[in-house]
Amino acid sequence: MISLRGLTKRYGGTLAVDDLTFDIQTGRVTGFLGPNGAGKSTTMRMILGLDHPTRGRALIAGRPYADLRRPLRAVGAMLDARAVHPARSGRTHLVAQARANGIPVRRVDEVLETVGLTKAARRPAGTYSLGMSGRLGVAGALLGDPPVLILDEPVNGLDPDGVRWIRRLVRDQAAEGRTVFLSSHLMSEMQLTADHLVIIGRGRLLSDTSMTDFLAAASPASARASVPDPEQRATLVRRLMAIDGVSVETSADGELTVEGSTAAEVGDLAHHCGVRLHGLSDIRVSLEQAYMDLTARSVEYATGGTAERGRQ
Ligand code: ADP
Repeated sequence: MISLRGLTKRYGGTLAVDDLTFDIQTGRVTGFLGPNGAGKSTTMRMILGLDHPTRGRALIAGRPYADLRRPLRAVGAMLDARAVHPARSGRTHLVAQARANGIPVRRVDEVLETVGLTKAARRPAGTYSLGMSGRLGVAGALLGDPPVLILDEPVNGLDPDGVRWIRRLVRDQAAEGRTVFLSSHLMSEMQLTADHLVIIGRGRLLSDTSMTDFLAAASPASARASVPDPEQRATLVRRLMAIDGVSVETSADGELTVEGSTAAEVGDLAHHCGVRLHGLSDIRVSLEQAYMDLTARSVEYATGGTAERGRQ
């Protein structure tokens, strides 16, 4: 639905976005990650036609943003939640946007309801908290009922209720077949929200992969197993320990933590030895850990070799 081909942006000596090529697929939530200054906002701005690429292109449904006939109906975006005139009420702000895009005004009240701002709709936007401004930004993005949503840090300033609300909203939007592209520095939240990840560092693509594959690749083979019968447990531990590179720890309540073996391997061995299992799962690292590992590697790469930034 969104495709980037060789997308590049240089600001003077700074290469903010460096030859990005990837697609953002429809029907899923794609999380956009990268350290501060990695080029996420610049990339989003170029997709939305707010910045001109130095090279390459970004297309939405096959067209550059500037060629979309009714942009708000094609793509809804929130880049900067505070970019609203402080003296205008939230409702007036949305009505102006709706009018400019041929959207019926009744839709304004619908989206205000969706984001939970109906009561505050007539207050000046300048009096809104950061979380309320975020909700107003999301309301603006939803106004044209677009098939594509692009949200830069939508959970910024939201309380836990608001964070859960955004999660549900974007998951529902993707389930309805929309394309959702969002950035967030809250890794635990991203892990719960995104199906797919695009990770950049210093303007370059570091990873474009499903959440499941990313976490699996970053996790060493290890599993957790619970064996109710103590004798069978001892048998399984003995058999596992006999395998090269495998170690097992048994917790006080009899749960096994197996390093060096996957859940599938533990399950097969248990089956083979006639050991009954009550629980069996792979142990995965968190998104935060996997992300830190990846970006640390990319920093080492950058500092160990040629300077990535400002290269001509
Ligand atoms: P992120 O959103 O990942 O934090 P940005 O896209 O905001 O990163 O910034 C990427 C790089 O481009 C940074 O080094 C930033 O300082 C620089 N940059 C962004 N916008 C401008 C601009 N308008 N003029 C000059 N440099 C910019």
